[in-house]
Amino acid sequence: MTNEQIAQNVAAVQEAVAEAARQAGRDPAEVTLVAATKVQTSETIRQAIAAGITVCGENRVQEFNAHWTDGAYEGAQVHFIGHLQKNKVKYLVGRVSLIESVDSEELLRAIDQRAQRLGVVQDVLIEVNIGGEASKSGVAPSEAHALVALAADLPGVNPRGLMAIPPVAEIPRGNEQYFAEMQQLFVDIGGKMYDNKVSIDCLSMGMSGDFAEAIAHGATQVRIGTALFGARPPMRANG
Ligand SMILES: *Cc1c(COP(=O)(O)O)cnc(C)c1O
Repeated sequence: MTNEQIAQNVAAVQEAVAEAARQAGRDPAEVTLVAATKVQTSETIRQAIAAGITVCGENRVQEFNAHWTDGAYEGAQVHFIGHLQKNKVKYLVGRVSLIESVDSEELLRAIDQRAQRLGVVQDVLIEVNIGGEASKSGVAPSEAHALVALAADLPGVNPRGLMAIPPVAEIPRGNEQYFAEMQQLFVDIGGKMYDNKVSIDCLSMGMSGDFAEAIAHGATQVRIGTALFGARPPMRANG
């Protein structure tokens, strides 16, 4: 994809996200566009940032490390959005501004320990498996509050909210119900955490095919790849 195409796509997606927010009666400034940069080159990432992308979302630690070493993220923040193994936490803590995909107590504790060792506090989201799919990471909705509360108690991590990847929709707007459930869970947990000196202010959901519905249901961050960078080659499961 050429430089010009990337710039056009960034502008078009930014406008579509803003329009979805306005349609939902929300301020466009409440919704952050996270560019899902998996399989993209450092050069493409630089071009996207030059075109106005302010947050990159990375799925794989190996790709993150390569781009980080290249200095490709200069001018933007990075969120980690993929499945994360405990032994790879050390590459991310203190480098990414948000780890969106915390899906177990063990992982949360590993992030906390690393952060304490570095003397930093790592912002995290708890990933919820809202469709209850065996193939997906994330905690059950009923477990999310406990993990947010634990994160609030640990000194090295700061819980900011929830992330979800609903099932692939079979029909247009097929994920509306999952987005509505996530919004309810987010509001409930935010209410329960009200006294805990944390601000539960991030709800990360919505991708290229369904970000407007996610925004209508309160998403504060949408993670978009295909609409910015074109279709990806078929994927390996996890890396
Ligand atoms: C790839 C990916 C996205 C973006 O998906 P698109 O459909 O290409 O917009 C969002 N979130 C996560 C976790 C991803 O892995």
